[in-house]
Amino acid sequence: MDVIPAPAAPRIPVRGRDGRPLGNFPVRRIYCVGRNFADHAREMGAPVATSEADRGNPVFFMKPADAIVTDGVVPYPRGTQDLHHEVELVVALGSDAPPGLLPTTAAMALVYGYGVGLDLTRRDLQAAAKAKGLPWDTGKGFDHAAPISALLPVAMLGPLASLPITLDINGQRRQQSTLDQLIWDVPDILHALSKLYALRAGDLVFMGTPAGVAALQPGDVFHACIGDALVLDGRIDAQPT
Ligand code: MN
Repeated sequence: MDVIPAPAAPRIPVRGRDGRPLGNFPVRRIYCVGRNFADHAREMGAPVATSEADRGNPVFFMKPADAIVTDGVVPYPRGTQDLHHEVELVVALGSDAPPGLLPTTAAMALVYGYGVGLDLTRRDLQAAAKAKGLPWDTGKGFDHAAPISALLPVAMLGPLASLPITLDINGQRRQQSTLDQLIWDVPDILHALSKLYALRAGDLVFMGTPAGVAALQPGDVFHACIGDALVLDGRIDAQPT
């Protein structure tokens, strides 16, 4: 028997294009990709690959599964004076990867659906860690660090590559790109992750953000979209006392 009450698995609602509820997606892990848009890598002062041959390997980090926020309400986190937004495509895996390396040609078969999310970042803590060569964890993995839209099953979305990804804060456009600007696309990223981890049903992958990351303040209202099918609405609340 459990010696303490087992925490509930975080769950994300799944909806059809018409908004019809289709059930819930239980979350196992949250993988995140760093520097997956050249314009964002540039704004962060990171080297940008200029050819297929020298694009290197993607940067990965993780957030705890219970960092997801599905009601859009994000309390301003403690420990930071510089909370940043990063709008991202989120990939939800619906089945386990076979043992061993996952070929890019087999990767899409694992994908259950997609969402749009914010990789919220305590940029001051991340910058301090980077400067000292220390882990990014306190900058990236914290309570309420991963607000996410309802998920849409893959068959209901159609081709990803041409879709615009946007983020408005208080009605002003802050981030804008298209998914064909990803340095590593979804099969590339799932293949690269499989070199490091056993991917499983319930895993999420935040695919990286385009340029335009900036600070959020209590009271800010966010509206993120991928095409017209994935929409995340929410707000930053005051820090709990
Ligand atoms: Mn990110």
